[in-house]
Amino acid sequence: MTSAEISVRSSELYDRACRCLATGVSSSLRRHVTSPPLYIEHADGPYFFDEDGVCRADYTLGWGPLIVGSNHAGINAAVARQLKKGYTYGCQHTAEIELAELIVDSVPGIEQVIFSNTGTEAIQAAIRIARAHTGRDKILKFEGHYHGWLNNVLVSYRPKQDDSTLPQATCGGQPASEFADTLVLPWNDIEAVRQLFAERGPEIAGVLTEPILANSGSCMPKPGYLEELIALCREHNIVSIFDEVITGFRVALGGARELFDLQPDLSVYGKALAGGFTMSAVGGAAEMFEVLRDGRTIHSGTYNGTSLNIVAAIETIRELRKPGTYQRMEEHGQAVSDAILVAASKRDVPATISGVGSVFSVHLGVKTPPRNYREMLNSNMSLYGKFRQAMLQRGVQLLPDARWYVGTQHDDEVLARVIPVIEPSMKDAT
Ligand code: PLP
Repeated sequence: MTSAEISVRSSELYDRACRCLATGVSSSLRRHVTSPPLYIEHADGPYFFDEDGVCRADYTLGWGPLIVGSNHAGINAAVARQLKKGYTYGCQHTAEIELAELIVDSVPGIEQVIFSNTGTEAIQAAIRIARAHTGRDKILKFEGHYHGWLNNVLVSYRPKQDDSTLPQATCGGQPASEFADTLVLPWNDIEAVRQLFAERGPEIAGVLTEPILANSGSCMPKPGYLEELIALCREHNIVSIFDEVITGFRVALGGARELFDLQPDLSVYGKALAGGFTMSAVGGAAEMFEVLRDGRTIHSGTYNGTSLNIVAAIETIRELRKPGTYQRMEEHGQAVSDAILVAASKRDVPATISGVGSVFSVHLGVKTPPRNYREMLNSNMSLYGKFRQAMLQRGVQLLPDARWYVGTQHDDEVLARVIPVIEPSMKDAT
């Protein structure tokens, strides 16, 4: 059966949506995930139930946030309690202190935080702090890294392949003037950074990097790369910023800071931080926020610290702090990865996996894990697309870019459902 045949109701709803909701979906990246886009009726733990009544084990986790699953009893209870006390205040409340204390206690080197709503916003706050702190304007980012949809960072996200690293717009409506202060380099190449800093260091306010390149093949940093990046930043008085919107509270409780034992100047959190509620944060040493305290710059937002999102984040982090959580996610991801590699090998398809257990990417058609965006392009995405389609039809929902997200809800029952369908899906794909 094709997905159109098992998604009759979703097809009807999509047609209806296209008449009034421009593009039919609420984020451009969701347009071509499945055909038609799936309409979810409800979600429970690790399962999504669509409007056609099909239940699927979900490894998309809402593109990352649902790290403790849907319909989580603790989050539900906390949000229900808070609903009666007020949705948002535009004033201070004790839960925001409690959340700040919990983050400071959970993440190495974070002494203070500020709160925003989305990853996109928090990235902008971090950039502004870096600029106010240094009095410089330029920001360095890397090819294939995604830091939200705004014009100054949606640059060279999917760059054309030539020898140049000149910053490129990612879509229409991005005037070059709006990323005139953005510099771009290939990732995992410390010599390129060293050379740029030697030439232009005094112009550069901050360096933005995903510590694991989750948005482009879950590439891992080369040994020593991130350490050297932070050290070079310190040498040139440039603010180092880890974009932990994906890795934060996911690859370890303390995110990439804990996993790699590193302390950049600032880290940005979103997604898993609040388990599916709209919450983001920037954290760092207290001195990094001096520019806000002394009024050199500001950070604002009607919904910053909204009570419902804050209590959801508190419950999410409490769940994540339970003993054994990260080891179980790691083991689950490893078991799924191993099964994919075995299935590929039985079909004589070269394959490799990059990333960690709780977020990894499958690369078919290659044997070596990619180390940056350009290397990621060697993976056979059309073959992966066929595999994903076959998995969808067997009741497993996956992201189109070959990234898998694992959460605490992925238990042995889910594994028993997923492992047996991997081999037949690989067979269908090949
Ligand atoms: N940074 C990274 C690494 C992301 O993956 C994303 C979103 O996918 C963002 C920033 C932007 O976050 P949001 O979509 O919440 O604005």
